[in-house]
Amino acid sequence: MKATLGYASHAAADKLGPFNFERRDPLPHDVAIEILYCGVCHSDLHQVRNEWHNTIYPCVPGHEIVGRVTKVGAHVTKFKEGDLAAVGCMVDSCRKCPSCDRGLEQYCDVGPVFTYNGPDKHSGAQTFGGYSDSIVVDEAFVLHVPANLDLAAVAPLLCAGITTYSPLHHWKVGKGQKVGIVGLGGLGHMGVKFAHALGAHTVLFTTSPGKAEDAKRLGADEVVVSKNADEMKAHARSFDFILDCVSAQHDINEYLNLLKVDGNITLVGAPEHPLPVAAFPLLMGRRSLSGSGIGGIAETQEMLDFCGQHGITSEIEMINMDYINTAYDRLLKSDVKYRFVIDMKSLK
Ligand code: NAP
Ligand code: ZN
Ligand code: ZN
Repeated sequence: MKATLGYASHAAADKLGPFNFERRDPLPHDVAIEILYCGVCHSDLHQVRNEWHNTIYPCVPGHEIVGRVTKVGAHVTKFKEGDLAAVGCMVDSCRKCPSCDRGLEQYCDVGPVFTYNGPDKHSGAQTFGGYSDSIVVDEAFVLHVPANLDLAAVAPLLCAGITTYSPLHHWKVGKGQKVGIVGLGGLGHMGVKFAHALGAHTVLFTTSPGKAEDAKRLGADEVVVSKNADEMKAHARSFDFILDCVSAQHDINEYLNLLKVDGNITLVGAPEHPLPVAAFPLLMGRRSLSGSGIGGIAETQEMLDFCGQHGITSEIEMINMDYINTAYDRLLKSDVKYRFVIDMKSLK
């Protein structure tokens, strides 16, 4: 066992603080990674504050992990000591159900093992995430990092990146389409970058007029301030696809009304409370509403390789570990440009 230092919360109302625990020694298929950077996802905040009502404490969040391999098990073939490596939201799955067979480990029929707050396959206790100095993960769930990208700015790709890339591909977003991205936060800003890279006419919807210039720089062709009813109305019945990346309560019906006939809105945001959906905006236009969760392991590697080829990374604000509670307060005010990334050196 290896002594590990992390940051944990011990109750929903608790702040995060230093926490000592142990990681297992690498098993034959395991890769041990020294964590260099970890992104801060709004899901970390939802989980730490028990907004999804399933948190097990102590909770060490973090699922946008990049670092360097320090040790590999005897049967590991994909990695060697010294390699860069990345870990996202999952560290294992059943590997034999129909979803796993299709490379959709995130929808594993018995449930994937999430990087934190999941049932650890080996210890039986819960998993601890990337707000820590090291992690041990089966090589099947470890990703390769393109060497040409800034490592800290790669970290958010492991969740914000794949969560937006996957639905844009599933719904075949590309040239000739008008695509909306709702919310310019961690997920939304990656959505804008990917929709633009795929050739779609990309429109960002924001509640923060001050983000308009950034959105255009990141690849948006148009920016709509969603609180302005006239601006919204001007886009009625015009979108092929909308990706909703909002972390809090908002009116999804306003966006259904902006879809063309047969248009789709996909929810990736995961607010604490249900979002009411009215029947008529769905009926009148055969529109559909769907959801999407992260992405499979092969698709995550494909996304990282795509980012390597197109020079795509996240826009980050680097923070020290002890800034995390302030960072959470800022997330709640939509005040992040556009992903906090923890420099894990600050933990030592
Ligand atoms: P984030 O960085 O905090 O961004 C959320 C953005 O939503 C804000 O920047 C803001 O953008 C907008 N927003 C916030 N409150 C709003 C409100 N009341 N009404 C309208 N817009 C509002 O969060 P994130 O890390 O991108 O995560 C977004 C959501 O996705 C979270 O709920 C997270 O748990 C979820 N998530 C889901 C998956 C999945 O697999 N489906 C994966 C990761 C995260 P503007 O300032 O531009 O309005
Ligand atoms: Zn996440
Ligand atoms: Zn499975």
